[in-house]
Amino acid sequence: MTTVFAPMPLTQERRLATTIPGPRSLALAARRSAVVAAGVSSTLPVYIARAGGAILEDVDGNRLVDLGSGIAVTSVGASAPEVVAAVAAQVADFTHTCFMVSPYEEYVQLCEVLARLTPGTHAKRSVLVNSGAEAVENAVKIARRATGRDAVVVLDHAYHGRTNLTMAMTARAMPYKTGFGPFAGEIYRVPASYPLRDGLTGEQAAARAIDTAQRQVGADRIAALVVEPILGEGGFVVPAPGFLPALAAWAREAGIVLVADEVQTGFARTGAMFACEHEGVVPDLVALAKGIGGGLPLGAVTGRAELMDAVHAGGLGGTYGGNPVACAAALAATALYERDDLAAAARAIEARVLGRLRAVAADVPAVAEVRGRGAMLAVELVRPGTLEPDKDSAAAVARACLAAGVLVLTCGTWGNVVRLLPPLVITPELLDDALDVLESALRALGA
Ligand code: PMP
Repeated sequence: MTTVFAPMPLTQERRLATTIPGPRSLALAARRSAVVAAGVSSTLPVYIARAGGAILEDVDGNRLVDLGSGIAVTSVGASAPEVVAAVAAQVADFTHTCFMVSPYEEYVQLCEVLARLTPGTHAKRSVLVNSGAEAVENAVKIARRATGRDAVVVLDHAYHGRTNLTMAMTARAMPYKTGFGPFAGEIYRVPASYPLRDGLTGEQAAARAIDTAQRQVGADRIAALVVEPILGEGGFVVPAPGFLPALAAWAREAGIVLVADEVQTGFARTGAMFACEHEGVVPDLVALAKGIGGGLPLGAVTGRAELMDAVHAGGLGGTYGGNPVACAAALAATALYERDDLAAAARAIEARVLGRLRAVAADVPAVAEVRGRGAMLAVELVRPGTLEPDKDSAAAVARACLAAGVLVLTCGTWGNVVRLLPPLVITPELLDDALDVLESALRALGA
């Protein structure tokens, strides 16, 4: 008999009980510095005791509004009751066998869901892994094996992870790469589309990227072109319309495997189940993680059957990949994206946030652009009157929000972008409350 534990509902209201961080968080920070590696840093200096929906409650009793979702993970809300129940039931049944040793239905069932949800109606296969970086690594392995080619083309401003191969694929040196080389070979970087900064149409930006790849690598050597449909850590940069379709057409003609890294953009986050759908692009392989698992660690590669099945038996896998507890969580989370139409919820968040923040942008010259799709939204900050990135302003805005109990993250190649990734289940009242705080932090930058 399985006992299912329902999480305590957490009132969806911001509440400050102490200054932030409070005394218990400060005590934990002191313990931490004695035992946790200094290379692991945290945005929010408070320690979380529990969470629900879009509220994080810390060890001092502060209730913070979560506009980060643990970096786009808890899109269905923190500790969504359906996820908690599925995890509890699965833990009681069995926690692990290793799918490569003795398989189980949950893995198969999740691959069925991924085949149905990801773009395109072609026959698909999936492999389940533990993280976004591992998903990207496996997509590259599969593309190389299927094409017999070595080279991998990635975009400027890209972020693909922290493993050796994905560090090589990631653009920004500090903090991701500095001192960690030598890096994997055969990775080639081409310019992205960054409408605010390059002023190019999507077609022009694609032509520039393709020309660079053809001149510096040669299309017949390229196994994979790996793209984030919206640049994530690179600054929530939405490419100009036409950029992705032009790259996809070139890849198709040249026999290059198009890999969409939907690790951050996937699962309803951008107002469609996958961000590629906004431009009708059907990738050959999709790298998935974050939102897939409702908070449990899981990643996947889903793609064309003939590419996926080009890999010999035993060539893909890992001890924990597709762990049954993570699969149970993902089955519950993916059911919620569909049942509650969370893509529509993301579009409603977009309308609410863009309306507010574009009005602020009109008054605050430090705001160069308010952009994004669905519940993946950002404000790029510059020195007024220029396009010079202003990292200090982004840090000041994030700090002011944290002090008032609203968690926002920063990103961008120059660290000058404030990004919003609220859980898609955030209530309109809580979102408005958080936006009041963000608006005053932005207005404090000066008119
Ligand atoms: N790709 C993208 C687009 C990401 O945003 C991230 C994580 N921020 C990764 C890959 C790496 O995922 P993970 O941290 O789970 O390895």
